[in-house]
Amino acid sequence: MTLESIPKDQRGLRACLVCSLIKSLDQFECEGCDNCEDFLRMKNDKDKVYDCTSTNFDGMISMMSPGDSWVAKWQRINRFCKGVYAISVSGRLPAGIIREMKSRGIVYRPRDTSQR
Ligand SMILES: [Zn+2]
Repeated sequence: MTLESIPKDQRGLRACLVCSLIKSLDQFECEGCDNCEDFLRMKNDKDKVYDCTSTNFDGMISMMSPGDSWVAKWQRINRFCKGVYAISVSGRLPAGIIREMKSRGIVYRPRDTSQR
């Protein structure tokens, strides 16, 4: 288990809009998102962190063994790394980033389950 991807602080927590990983603002700024850094590139870019993460999320799931967790499968996060994930994240990714993901063949699924 890598402790780096577990939120260190209860305050200032944010959830990634793409994969719903929860970390603190500082962690996102210092390390980026463990799953999405390839295309979100939030590292050392606070504005990007504000764009691509949200403080408005519901529920928290600790995922320690993604491969065999039914919760992880249900949340479609079983391919992601270990960490704490939100059940629902409110907010929208900027259009430019959705476009960039598309050009890399990644389908963006909004994590906001409250509006379904
Ligand atoms: Zn992410």
